[in-house]
Amino acid sequence: MVTFGAGAVGALSGWKLEGASGPFRELARELAGTVVTPSSAAYGRDKVLVNSRFDGTHPRAIVYCESAEDVERTVRWARKHAIRIVPRCGGHSYAGYSTTGEGVVVDVSRMRHVHVRNGIATVGAGARLIDVYTALAAHGLTVPAGSCPTVGIAGLALGGGVGYAGRKFGLTCDNLAGLSLVTAHGKLLDCNAHEHADLFWGSRGGGGGNFGITTSFRFRTHRVGDVAYYEIAWPWSDAARATRAWQDFAPHAPDALFSTLYMATGAPRGPGTKPVVSSGGQFFGSETELRSLIAPLVAAGTPIRVTVGTLPYLDAIMRWAGCHPLERCHAVGQLRFKGKSDYVDTPLTNAGVGTLLAGLETSQASTSLGGAALIFDASGGAINRVRPAETAFVHRHSLFSIQYFSSWVGDGSGDLRWSRNLYAAMRPHVSGFAYQNYIDPDLRSWKHAYYGSNLRRLVEVKRKHDPHNVFHFRQSIPTRA
Ligand SMILES: Cc1cc2nc3c(=O)[nH]c(=O)nc-3n(C[C@H](O)[C@H](O)[C@H](O)COP(=O)(O)OP(=O)(O)OC[C@H]3O[C@@H](n4cnc5c(N)ncnc54)[C@H](O)[C@@H]3O)c2cc1C
Repeated sequence: MVTFGAGAVGALSGWKLEGASGPFRELARELAGTVVTPSSAAYGRDKVLVNSRFDGTHPRAIVYCESAEDVERTVRWARKHAIRIVPRCGGHSYAGYSTTGEGVVVDVSRMRHVHVRNGIATVGAGARLIDVYTALAAHGLTVPAGSCPTVGIAGLALGGGVGYAGRKFGLTCDNLAGLSLVTAHGKLLDCNAHEHADLFWGSRGGGGGNFGITTSFRFRTHRVGDVAYYEIAWPWSDAARATRAWQDFAPHAPDALFSTLYMATGAPRGPGTKPVVSSGGQFFGSETELRSLIAPLVAAGTPIRVTVGTLPYLDAIMRWAGCHPLERCHAVGQLRFKGKSDYVDTPLTNAGVGTLLAGLETSQASTSLGGAALIFDASGGAINRVRPAETAFVHRHSLFSIQYFSSWVGDGSGDLRWSRNLYAAMRPHVSGFAYQNYIDPDLRSWKHAYYGSNLRRLVEVKRKHDPHNVFHFRQSIPTRA
């Protein structure tokens, strides 16, 4: 058994009652954790999310829970005082759904233990991905998860969880053996295939913040050693060729290989400049095998760089995360960004590819956009071997997803137009489904886009366990279809 970390990552003041009055003082007295209110010195720092577009949201308090009992007490307290509660783990919600201007944020980030026993990892719901990867790597184990080291395990796993081990071992949610969750009634339930199986089903892809507050997860782990990796960069003039080659290759590659295609605004900017295009992937096998597998990609156009190598698993995690040494992987920065997504179920036509490339080219000329990117993640492999109804994560027939990501400095509200325009232009070429973890308030038919044929059952789970819609946000699962 191993224990990793247990300290606070948020409010470090240690003043349990700092700034708390009235009902908030009452809550602070009941908790092992801390209640941070607007009069607390830590409030300004503790209220923000990763996406600085939501810095203007001012919760009435941030409640740092240290145990499942703290979460139970907080939920009961909130019901008693009719105060809205919103769970928060890593704070990476694209749409700011882990904060609220009307109620309190229930932050689970102090609950970030990782224990391993008999191949099952018990992970506190507040762990960040790097906490999980590091603790498990010490045992030569892993759970497939995302590439950003500071994303929270709760938001990631509840909505799916896509990463470089996904085609080999499945989504993060596919590796769940069980979880503990505090319901809207303030009761802690163990959910697994036999107990509260409906909540267990809904928590594997139904999305964070819908059914209750998860306090811990139990994951099946996988043994890992070294992995091979590749990176290929092309000149922009090869972008269409590279895209066609990648979509013919990546979703159909052996399970052991997961790959992405990445295109982004290039530097420098301005007239005559071009975006950049590259592909990267991780392979559970040898460098020699990988070289032969990626031959069709290398043969597409004239790559300017082809890199193939081998790394210990944790080093590969850090490579994809872009952080080194390990301590740097814990640094949480802020960014002003907007993300949208599509699932592609049939290969993009030349017209579809042309629309994407032309859309990205417009970002080169924009003076207000900090930058834009199109990120393709391959599906297939273990991800698509799970039936759509087996878990709440319905997207099991797609070839790949595309994320439209843009960021900027300053207010820049006009820059929402870049992704909206390109997204609109892509409608004839894509499936109409979208990834619930790239949650997007623009989407009108979001219930279908995120949940498709699983929506009806998710609504039933919601009605049964949260009939009064205690856990709600703009795109939460409704109590009625
Ligand atoms: C930089 C960046 C990189 C990313 N990379 C990947 C990636 O590689 N793969 C991938 O699949 N996704 C990725 N994502 C998307 C990510 O999975 C989602 O944004 C996810 O929801 C973030 O979880 P969080 O806990 O950090 O966020 P939070 O904002 O804390 O929470 C997200 C949602 O979950 C709810 N929630 C939080 N904690 C709990 C809890 N304990 N119980 C119930 N509900 C809870 C919140 O209320 C909110 O609705 C990335 C996002 C960003 C910003």
